[in-house]
Amino acid sequence: MDNLEIIVEKVLKELMLKENSVIQGYSHDSVDKAVEMAGIAYKQLHKLSMAQREKIVNKIKINCALHGEELSKMVVEETGMGRVEHKIIKHQLIAEKTPGVESLTTTAWTGDGGLTLVERGSYGVIGAITPSTNPTATVFCNAIGMIAAGNAVVFAPHPSAEKCSLRAIEIINEAIKSEGGPENLVLGLKNVTIEKTKELMEHRDVEMISATGGPGLVESALRSGKRALGAGAGNPPVFVDETADIEKAAKDILDGATFDNNLPCIAEKEVIVINCVADMLIHHMRENGAYYLDKNEISKLKNLILIEKNGTYALNRKYVGKDARIILEDIGIKADKDVRCIIFESDADDIMVKEELMMPILGIVKVFSVDEGIEVALKLEKGNRHSAHIHSKNVDTLTKYGRVLDTAIYVKNAPSYYALGYNAEGYVTFTIASKTGEGLTSAETFTKSRRCVLSQGLSIR
Ligand code: NAD
Repeated sequence: MDNLEIIVEKVLKELMLKENSVIQGYSHDSVDKAVEMAGIAYKQLHKLSMAQREKIVNKIKINCALHGEELSKMVVEETGMGRVEHKIIKHQLIAEKTPGVESLTTTAWTGDGGLTLVERGSYGVIGAITPSTNPTATVFCNAIGMIAAGNAVVFAPHPSAEKCSLRAIEIINEAIKSEGGPENLVLGLKNVTIEKTKELMEHRDVEMISATGGPGLVESALRSGKRALGAGAGNPPVFVDETADIEKAAKDILDGATFDNNLPCIAEKEVIVINCVADMLIHHMRENGAYYLDKNEISKLKNLILIEKNGTYALNRKYVGKDARIILEDIGIKADKDVRCIIFESDADDIMVKEELMMPILGIVKVFSVDEGIEVALKLEKGNRHSAHIHSKNVDTLTKYGRVLDTAIYVKNAPSYYALGYNAEGYVTFTIASKTGEGLTSAETFTKSRRCVLSQGLSIR
């Protein structure tokens, strides 16, 4: 080997060592070890001032934006799901709109009886379980809120998104370190299994659980006997009545339903439309990049994306989060390059309408009255109480639909992602605690209430 080759080999070895040591440094095989180290970091965090904590959180947000593209590419490569350009938007949104330290509020009463405060206190070490459909954005969003609230966190990433999740954790630690924060405040588990996730949730030193994922996970978290946030599945219906701006409704629905190829739990998953405007809606959906399936094509699609076993159906995970054109190609349809969604007409009992597909596919159910539309939407939302959307200009309908569906998120006359503050007001989160009722989580959700009382004579009023 000549000199140059030796030098190149040495540098490469050092880089690999560095990469491994950093990733290894913030990820652990052992749940005990991770929780123990996060526990030490938690105590160190509480030696810092709130101003220092704020600096750390702000730096994490900056790193989220800086590494958004790198992480988005990694996620799509590792999981095979979603769209890079939309994942980049999510990371930018997190950097801009995730509530930090400033969002923690204190309530005070003063008077002859003295001073009483209700402050927000931290929990300690939080065990956070994250989904494959939105791995790195959830890690960032959770870490920001949890640290702002004064906690440490151990993540159990989804096994199929472990590499990118651990990379996100590494980037978060770089931010913490650069602002003089404690080592190991945010850790990840590696080689995660369901057993290991349960071990984390049941660990005696884990004080709170944040469970973002499907029904199995949420049930398991709620059985743990700990304070748990259940951010579970959704199957959001979108209802269109005859008073809506149909052209705009068609575009909005497609924009929402195709964002990240329909992976978000809040995204429109099926359309319910009043019969007299159904054809017009379908026409405008086709104008906006929807491919309309005929009967024969519908059954081919069903055979492709669902796997039947003894009368029950499971998703063919190969097609979750895939581009519409890839799905169409696999049923023998060569679609135009601007096709971004697949639509078909059906009824509310169709498995492809009832199931949360997480693919850019929308079943369209025709109804003959607002009351029927609301009834069908309620049935399809399946009691998740997660998200429901509508396009209507009738205030009575808007009110009734919202009251009956009673979901954590309700978007009127806009794409579903407006709920996350994208192009709209309000903060962002990717952990929507639909099952346990906290709704869109923020730093405050990761705190507990603490009342402090100082007796008598302090009021100067
Ligand atoms: P998933 O349920 O397969 O996995 C989520 C996490 O839970 C993973 O880390 C997995 O390892 C773990 N897990 C799964 N089953 C478990 C069990 N029985 N016990 C313990 N741990 C378990 O979900 P996914 O496919 O990665 O994500 C998609 C699902 O998550 C969809 O249903 C979607 O609606 C939901 N989701 C909800 C929110 C929300 O904020 N409400 C956000 C994102 C995704």
